[in-house]
Amino acid sequence: MPQIINGKEISAQIKEELKEKVAAMKKEGISVCLAVIQVGDDPASAVYVGNKKKACAYIGITSLSYELPEETTQEELLALIGELNGRKDVNGILVQLPLPEHIDEDAVIRAIVPEKDVDGFHPQSVGALCIGQEGYVSCTPAGIIQLLKRSGIEIEGKECVIIGRSNIVGKPMALLLLRENGTVTITHSRTKNLKEVTKRADILVAAVGKPKMITREYVKEGAVVIDVGIHRNENNKLCGDVDYDDVAPVCSAITPVPGGVGPMTIAMLMHNCVESAALRH
Ligand code: NDP
Repeated sequence: MPQIINGKEISAQIKEELKEKVAAMKKEGISVCLAVIQVGDDPASAVYVGNKKKACAYIGITSLSYELPEETTQEELLALIGELNGRKDVNGILVQLPLPEHIDEDAVIRAIVPEKDVDGFHPQSVGALCIGQEGYVSCTPAGIIQLLKRSGIEIEGKECVIIGRSNIVGKPMALLLLRENGTVTITHSRTKNLKEVTKRADILVAAVGKPKMITREYVKEGAVVIDVGIHRNENNKLCGDVDYDDVAPVCSAITPVPGGVGPMTIAMLMHNCVESAALRH
């Protein structure tokens, strides 16, 4: 049977470490504060925002909550971000995506000062990652690196194949694996002979957004398989981009859905907030 990479346990470990760090910082008079902005009342976004606030409370981070109505204009949102950028007590600013259609997401991402860009989406943060400089890293791929490291899986020299090239998962994932000295291939919807490419992988990251697409035909025997996908199946149960039951018997390690990559995203967001407060002092 493969090693089951337990994201629930590893994220809990990280949150525990952060809780201790925040308590120690408080003794030195340093507090940590995250501003969370949600525009509109998308139910999935409300769940994500709620989970982020819960994690803040657990770790000892103050969260400021801005629940703005759907009809908020771009100017109003940018003005709020401008105000939060200037506040000394705010270390991180998070705008929950997606935004309503009348708001330009790129303009909003660019408006957050890079020092408070705890989501790691600002072009400066992405550029810094690209050229190996300090900056915040997109939370989901950063969480995957933690999953691998804390599960004792070596990345250096390994063939790493990523399915998906999105700005928030696929591309930063590739850069992070490269930073860890993996040999990296990115695949996407125009890749020819996808299965042949993915079968080269020692570490396969599926961020394709298609439920259970990755069956054992895509996986080399003994590979490590990381499933980023989150979907609800026909029975309203959560499943990933990987067909877990089919793939698990042929791989050496695998992340389940739920309980794999998912919990890591919030843990890394908390990590970035604490880092932001520590750096400012
Ligand atoms: P996107 O839809 O932005 O990107 C999907 C990528 O997969 C694209 O690059 C696309 O290629 C590629 N792709 C689509 N179909 C195929 C195919 N048949 N063969 C090869 N490549 C294909 O998704 P995200 O990166 O935002 O998210 C991916 C998954 O991860 C989703 O299920 C999402 O819900 C989940 N997710 C989970 C998170 C977590 O915390 N666990 C956080 C973020 C996302 P092309 O570029 O050519 O269109």
